[in-house]
Amino acid sequence: MIVPINIYSDDVLRQQALPLEGVDKEVEELLGNMFETMYSAPGIGLAAPQVGRSLRLLVLDISCMREYANVKPMVVINPEIVAVKGYRSMEEGCLSLPGLQGDVVRPSSISLNYRDEHFEGQNAEFSGLLARVLQHEIDHLDGRLFVDRLQKKERRKVQKELDALAAGRFIASYPVVLPVKVNKA
Ligand code: ZN
Repeated sequence: MIVPINIYSDDVLRQQALPLEGVDKEVEELLGNMFETMYSAPGIGLAAPQVGRSLRLLVLDISCMREYANVKPMVVINPEIVAVKGYRSMEEGCLSLPGLQGDVVRPSSISLNYRDEHFEGQNAEFSGLLARVLQHEIDHLDGRLFVDRLQKKERRKVQKELDALAAGRFIASYPVVLPVKVNKA
């Protein structure tokens, strides 16, 4: 089932998400919905808070990019970055920030502890686009968005677009949860 995506100013995107204690039927259903929603948007990564669930869970699939065609889809539960290496700037976008792009500096490779879709413990090194998407999605689990990591000048450039998102003035090609409008006194 395709589920609507929560947008920029939504509180759920600012919460510290809770770790999972296992994978039950409900989590399996959530995972299925997240993959379906990500593919249809389309996107290459999606974190549970983006569909309104404050859980430390994300899905990704970068195989639509030609040079990553052999990379399998991933389920990442309770991730913990245990080491980083190098730095690289790369343009990012986000399904919770429709229409926005910006250059973000992040470590170029990471060592990650996490649990897979069977809740088996894993440790692996990631670099390139995979490291990038993982870090972007893990940020979502900590209530952080890529625009928080833009340099001041870059951030100023997108402030108008952020205000428009917060006010519900945007176009998305996928179902969204419209942000609740706050009345200014
Ligand atoms: Zn995102």
